[in-house]
Amino acid sequence: MSLIQLSVGKPTKCSNIESDVYMVQRLLRGAASRLSDKDYDPGEPDGVVGSKTLGAIREFQDRFMNWPDVVISPNGRTIRELSEFSVWALLRQMNLFPFGHDEPAPAARGTLGPPDPETRKGSGKANEIARTNPGGCFPIPQMPTRDITTGARYFGAPRTKDGRYRKHAGVDLICKVGTPVFAVADGVVKTPIRHFYRSTGEFAIDHGDFWVRYCEIAIKASKALGLDEPGTEVKKGQLIGFIGIMKSSSMLHFEMYSGEESGTLALHAHRKPYTKKLKDASFMRRRDLINPTDCLKQWMGNIPELTPELAAMAKDAASSAKKARDAYFAKKK
Ligand SMILES: [Zn+2]
Repeated sequence: MSLIQLSVGKPTKCSNIESDVYMVQRLLRGAASRLSDKDYDPGEPDGVVGSKTLGAIREFQDRFMNWPDVVISPNGRTIRELSEFSVWALLRQMNLFPFGHDEPAPAARGTLGPPDPETRKGSGKANEIARTNPGGCFPIPQMPTRDITTGARYFGAPRTKDGRYRKHAGVDLICKVGTPVFAVADGVVKTPIRHFYRSTGEFAIDHGDFWVRYCEIAIKASKALGLDEPGTEVKKGQLIGFIGIMKSSSMLHFEMYSGEESGTLALHAHRKPYTKKLKDASFMRRRDLINPTDCLKQWMGNIPELTPELAAMAKDAASSAKKARDAYFAKKK
């Protein structure tokens, strides 16, 4: 049995029957008092969904949702969270607190404890850290769908059939558009997210023992995580972006550098350095470029866990990446 009969929230999407709205308003008030956060307080319950109630729902959903939808369905997560966080306070308010024992401690905001408001950036969901084992982790939450040592995907693969263009400077991990990308180790962001190729983006992280250039990511969804300012620290397994889409293919193009050199990573990437043979072809990258294949193979034994929350974020990222791709190719026509 649910505490509400029909959905409460955005008037365009919800029934907002009076008794349900009263219940939600009381629960929100309870949560505001229990968690000492007035942002969750919709004001005196009146059974009507106004801007204060909508704002309180949005703020409360922001505790655990990536993009609050301001819709509370009878069996959805919001009503469960609300009852969990505030039912004790509600019972007390209604003088329905018959037992002598104390209320349980309130759960932490979100899944990772209360964020520091000073450091909270972007959508505020940059705090997602996937569960991983010790050691470096794989950058996506699954095995790539194609072998990384064959086709055009391996490190050093020729970019054209005759091999007279530059060589492939990274390894391609083929996966679905929107797939979450994780930091393979603790590190510090070195470059902001910028355009890479066909509407997809790239950015680089210094992981201490090596650098990684994460490429072909979805620019908008990845930027929304608010992590791409140089100097920002990231943790191993931290969600740092989502896979973008080019024409129809999607992958993480993964480049690795030893970190011994400084300066721009990609050198005249779009100039064609025609050579006679593949072995003479250059990577057109900074000189400390290294082959990431062995590391990636090792990290395949430590694949980050894809939680339902991350899967939901991936879905949103995929649709925004497809929009960006469509807009890019529409402009090219
Ligand atoms: Zn590639």
